Amino acid sequence: MTVLFSELLVPGWAEGGTMIGMREVTAPTDNSTGFNLPCHSADPETFFAETPAMIAFAKSLCGECPVRTQCLEGALSRSEPCGVWGGELFDEGRPIIAKRAPGRPRLQRGDVELAG
Ligand code: SF4
Repeated sequence: MTVLFSELLVPGWAEGGTMIGMREVTAPTDNSTGFNLPCHSADPETFFAETPAMIAFAKSLCGECPVRTQCLEGALSRSEPCGVWGGELFDEGRPIIAKRAPGRPRLQRGDVELAG
C-alpha cells in the first residue's frame, strides 16, 4: 500500500470542505520551504512497514520531527487504521506496542487447549 502523506486528508483542519494534506498543514504561509519533515523525504512505505525493524526505523524518524505532537493528536483524532504517526504505531485507530506476528497466538500459561 502506498500512501503519499501530502495527499492525506486531515479532518478537523479543513475549512469549507477543502481537503488539506500534511504539507498544507505544516508549511508556512510565506514562500519559504517550511518544515523539513522526515516523512516527506523518506519512502512512505517505511511508515506502513510490517517488520519490527522498519517500524522501529519509522518511529526513530518521527522522533526528530518538529510536529510530532500535532501529528500524534491528529492521528488519534482520525482513528488512523494503520501506520506510524507521531512516533506511535497505530492499529485500528489506537496506538499499539507492536504488531502481532501472523498466525495463531501462542498459548499462555493457564490457557486450555481444546481437543478437537
Ligand atoms: S511525526 Fe512522523 S509521521 Fe508525523 S509528520 Fe512527523 S515524521 Fe511525519
